[in-house]
Amino acid sequence: MAASEAVPFAKTGGLADVAGSLPQALAARGHDVRLILPYYGCIKKSSIPVTDTKLTISVPISNKWESARIFESRLKAGNPVYLIDRESYYNRPELYGTAEGDYPDNAERFCFFSQAIVAVIKRMGLNVDVIHSHDWQTGLVCPLIKVVEKNSPLFQKTAVAFTLHNLAYQGLFWHYDMHLTGLPWSVFTPEGIEFYGKINLLKAGIVYADAITTVSKKYSEEIQTKEFGYGMDGLLAQRRKDLYGILNGADYTQWNPESDPFIIQNYARDNWEGKKRCKADLLHSYGIKTAAETAVIGMVGRMADQKGYDLIASAIGKLMKMGVVLIILGKGEERYHRLLRQLSKAHPERLGVKIAFDNALAHKIEAGSDYFLMPSRYEPCGLNQIYSLRYGTIPIVRATGGLDDTVTEYDTGTGRGNGFKFDRYSKESLLEKIRQAMALYERPPHWDKIRQNAMTCDFSWDRSAHEYEKMYRTILEKR
Ligand code: ADP
Repeated sequence: MAASEAVPFAKTGGLADVAGSLPQALAARGHDVRLILPYYGCIKKSSIPVTDTKLTISVPISNKWESARIFESRLKAGNPVYLIDRESYYNRPELYGTAEGDYPDNAERFCFFSQAIVAVIKRMGLNVDVIHSHDWQTGLVCPLIKVVEKNSPLFQKTAVAFTLHNLAYQGLFWHYDMHLTGLPWSVFTPEGIEFYGKINLLKAGIVYADAITTVSKKYSEEIQTKEFGYGMDGLLAQRRKDLYGILNGADYTQWNPESDPFIIQNYARDNWEGKKRCKADLLHSYGIKTAAETAVIGMVGRMADQKGYDLIASAIGKLMKMGVVLIILGKGEERYHRLLRQLSKAHPERLGVKIAFDNALAHKIEAGSDYFLMPSRYEPCGLNQIYSLRYGTIPIVRATGGLDDTVTEYDTGTGRGNGFKFDRYSKESLLEKIRQAMALYERPPHWDKIRQNAMTCDFSWDRSAHEYEKMYRTILEKR
């Protein structure tokens, strides 16, 4: 398994949750799964134990050979984790860039990383059945195996799987960067890794992988359409026989109100006292004073176009008039930081905004809110709504991608359903859905029922790991 981030080592989003959990879920099913990551500065600063293997690798970057050292750590379940140490690339304050933009040498950083993944396997003589890489940062691994290592005895029986976590991030670089990829110019064609004159590292994964997976059924269908495909729709439709939609699981050892160490009091389905305290504690951390019965809506997420912050901004006046409290935690693009700070100044008593990446606070929001809002334009899987269900925090989501696959609309007639979802990406649809959700808050039998329904949903990793396992077998049989 190769990824550019994984819990508990480094995280900016859902990819890290998946890359940290899936290897362990597969290990629990009897597989030997090892993870390869860059050795980032944040890992060096953490207290995670790491040992030096004293092995080094070298890969061709431009007209030089660049080297790195391999360090080793472990996941909780014992899976070995190989860390590629190259200070000049990975010892930086962030993983990919700052609020001002991406690091300008990302092509070099991740072409190096992808080549290093192959080099580590060779250097350690690992006899791998499947290499599973994720997103554009490791897309290059697929053509490296299928083209460059085509005749290498070590990889004759190796199958390659590639997972798309978000089509909007493609790793597009100008063609002058071909000298960083380790690939021959013969693959720089529209059938290969070229995308309108540029190198596209995500496309490299899609074209050369034996199987492509994405993180929900609905998103696997959406990305074959123009609206969601970001230019990859035609290619994905062509490859649909090899395209799998496998929903992410949740790591309930991390996200469980009964044992969560980040929240002020644990609680369970048959004991809600703790949740009340969590709510008071959350409001206190945001400095919001309000009556205990005021409904609190929480939101945690990267501040990017995808996540619907513009919709929140356009609806905020009316939303505040509904008498709710909205609590937001997020980090990302500078323009959203500015926008949300302005809004919170305008509504200090009902809108709490923190611009930060803060895992402990994310847990407090899951536990302390009554509702969890995800008005995403698109959402490949989305993990927060899955976590919120376990915390009895009712999701209000836009019906797209994994949000649509995991949230079912509550029906007051049958008492079935675990949340609320709206279709149109518009302020009116959002407000109307929040109004409907609020109405339930004041009807105790239904409110209790929906929270019970939410908390009994099970999205544990084992089911998803089984799906991955089936996919691995299919591609191995074809080798
Ligand atoms: P994405 O991968 O698009 O960012 P997901 O919902 O799949 O969205 O995953 C987001 C993950 O990152 C969740 O585990 C969420 O709690 C976490 N997260 C996102 N933003 C923050 C933040 N500002 N502080 C703490 N955790 C965050």
